[in-house]
Amino acid sequence: MKDWTHGITRRGFLSGLAVAGITPVAQRVARAFPDAAPQKKWTGDNFEEAHEIMRNPYRFLQDPSEWVRHDEMRDVVIVGGGMAGLTTAFLLRDRNVLLLEREPQTGGVSKSGNWNGIEYSIGAAYMIDPEPEEGGPRNPNFDLLLDLGLRKKGEKLDKERNIERRWSEGSENHCLFTNTEAFSEGEIHSKQNIEFFEHVNDEGPTPDIPPTNPKLVEQLDSISYKTFLYDEKLQQSIWGKTLGPLSPRAREATEYYFWGAFGTNTWETSAYHGLNFFSAEFGNILVFPGGNSFIAKRLTERIRQRNPQLIETGHYVLEIETGKDKKSWSVLAYHEGKVHRYQARAVVFSSPLFLAKRMIPNLLDDQRKAIESLDYRSFVVANVLLRNRMDEIFSNEKIHNAYELTRMHNVDVQRQMPEVLNGQKVFSDICSADFASWRSTPYAVLTVYRPFPYAHGRDRLRYLTYEYVEAEVRKAILEGLSHHGLKDTHIEEIRLARWGHPMIIPRPGQMAPGGVLETARKSQDGLYFAHTDIQGAPAIENALASARAAVENVNKYLG
Ligand SMILES: Cc1cc2nc3c(=O)[nH]c(=O)nc-3n(C[C@H](O)[C@H](O)[C@H](O)COP(=O)(O)OP(=O)(O)OC[C@H]3O[C@@H](n4cnc5c(N)ncnc54)[C@H](O)[C@@H]3O)c2cc1C
Repeated sequence: MKDWTHGITRRGFLSGLAVAGITPVAQRVARAFPDAAPQKKWTGDNFEEAHEIMRNPYRFLQDPSEWVRHDEMRDVVIVGGGMAGLTTAFLLRDRNVLLLEREPQTGGVSKSGNWNGIEYSIGAAYMIDPEPEEGGPRNPNFDLLLDLGLRKKGEKLDKERNIERRWSEGSENHCLFTNTEAFSEGEIHSKQNIEFFEHVNDEGPTPDIPPTNPKLVEQLDSISYKTFLYDEKLQQSIWGKTLGPLSPRAREATEYYFWGAFGTNTWETSAYHGLNFFSAEFGNILVFPGGNSFIAKRLTERIRQRNPQLIETGHYVLEIETGKDKKSWSVLAYHEGKVHRYQARAVVFSSPLFLAKRMIPNLLDDQRKAIESLDYRSFVVANVLLRNRMDEIFSNEKIHNAYELTRMHNVDVQRQMPEVLNGQKVFSDICSADFASWRSTPYAVLTVYRPFPYAHGRDRLRYLTYEYVEAEVRKAILEGLSHHGLKDTHIEEIRLARWGHPMIIPRPGQMAPGGVLETARKSQDGLYFAHTDIQGAPAIENALASARAAVENVNKYLG
C-alpha cells in the first residue's frame, strides 16, 4: 500500500528549492499555483470503517481455510504505527520485526497535511524540548531526536532560524486574546505563579511520567488539579513555596488549557498529570513544521531505510491470540479483502488501549474491566487556510509572533459549572502552522483545536456533518479574531480532521499504584503494551516512555 513518506510531497519539493538557495522562486511558484481543490471530507479517524470492522471482527475470521498464512516466526509483531509503535520498531529494528498499521499512513494522531508549502498538523502539535542541562543526566527523548537527526546539543532554537525546528517560549510566543484585546502570558500570571511552575519544572520534585517518586504520586494523584491549585499547605510541604493567588484571567486560561489539551477540565484531571503538563509549559516547547508528524515521518523513513518490509500499512489487525504451544502469538489482520495470519514470539500492542478488549480475547477479567473504566474524549482539528501571511492580517505583533493563541472570554470560571464552561466554546487553542518553518511563505495556516469535552461528545461528532462543523469553526474564529484583523475574505478553506477516541481522560486515582492503569496495561509472557494511553494521559513523552518500557520487556523476554 502506498505511503506518503515514499512520494515527494509538494512541500518537500518547495523546501528542496529553498535549500538550493532560491526561496523567492519557491514563493512565486506557491503564489502562482495555490492548491485549488477544497478537501471537503474528513481526515483523521475513519469512523465508518472502524465501526464497520470492529463491531463484528469475527465475521472476517469465520473460515480459517481462506486465511493467507505467513509461516515465518518473527521475533515481534507491533500492532499500530503511531508514535509509540514506530519508536518501538525503531528501537527493535535489528530484530525480525513486523509493524502492522491499519491506515494507509503511519503516524497515528501525529499526522499532517500540506497546503502550498505549509505543513500543518491534523493532530499532535508539539513536544517539550528534551535537551538536558549541561552535566545533567541523559534524557532518552533527546537521545532519540539526536539519533534521528532532529536535534543537536547546544542549539539555540529561539535564534537559529535556518533549520526546520523552533522553540516556542512562554510570553514571547504565547498570545492570549479576547474579542478586543491581546495579551501575553506574563500579563496574566504573577511573578510568583511563574516562579512556582519553573521551580517544579527545573528543581523539582517534578511529577514525571512514568513516575520515579512514589510519594509524589501518592500526594498528588488522588486529588484533582483544581484542588491542588488552592492547597497552599500541600504546595508548601512539597516544594517549600507556594503558587500564590491566581488572577481571574490566569484561572480562566488554566481551565482552557485543560479544555484544549485533554478535552476536560481541572475538576476531572489528576493533580499529578495536571502539574506534569502545566509546569512543562514553562520550559521550551519544541515545534517542527506540521507538528509531531515530522518526528513520525523521520522514524518511518529511518525504519524503512533499514528494512523496507518492516512496516505494512493498510493492515487492520482483528485478533491477537496465543499460539497452541503458548510460546508464540498469532496476529490476524485484514488486508485488501483477505485475512492474513502472522506469527511472532512476542507482540507489542501499540493501538489505543480501549481496542485491546476487542482484539485480545484472552485478556484477564480484571484487565478487561479496568480498560472498560477508562474514558476518552473526541476532537476535531480544523486547519484554517489563510490567503495572506500572519503579519499582513494581524496588526498586533503579539498575535503574529505567536505560536500558541488562546481565546479568552472574560468568564469567571470559579462561578461556572464545568458542564456550562465545556459547552460554551467552540475552541480555545490555536497553533500557527508555519511557526517552525524557516522559509517565508505568502500564506498562513491556523490549526484550531476543537474538543468535544462532555459525555456523548463522540456521538455528537459522529453525526455532525462536515459542513456544520466547518461553519461552526468559521463563525467562532471570525468572532474571536475579526477585531484583530481577520476577515472572511482571508479564509481560502477550512480543512477538518476528526478523532474518535484520541484523548484518555487523566482522572485522579488512575495512575497511583493499584490504580486502574496498572491493571489495564498488565503484560503477559510475550505480550506488551506501548501507547500513550497506558500512562493515562495523551502526550508524545508518554508514548515514547511506553515504547522504551515495552522494548526493555521484549528484550528481556526474547533474550
Ligand atoms: C488533537 C490532538 C492533539 C494532540 N496534541 C499533542 C501535542 O501537541 N503534544 C503531544 O505531546 N501530544 C499531543 N497529543 C497526544 C498524542 O496522542 C500523542 O502525542 C501521541 O501522538 C500518541 O501516539 P501513540 O502511538 O501512543 O498513539 P496513536 O497515535 O493513537 O497510534 C495508534 C496507532 O494504532 C493504529 N491502530 C489502531 N487500531 C489498529 C488496528 N486494529 N490494526 C492496526 N493498527 C491499528 C492507529 O491507526 C494508529 O496509527 C494530541 C492528540 C490529539 C488527538
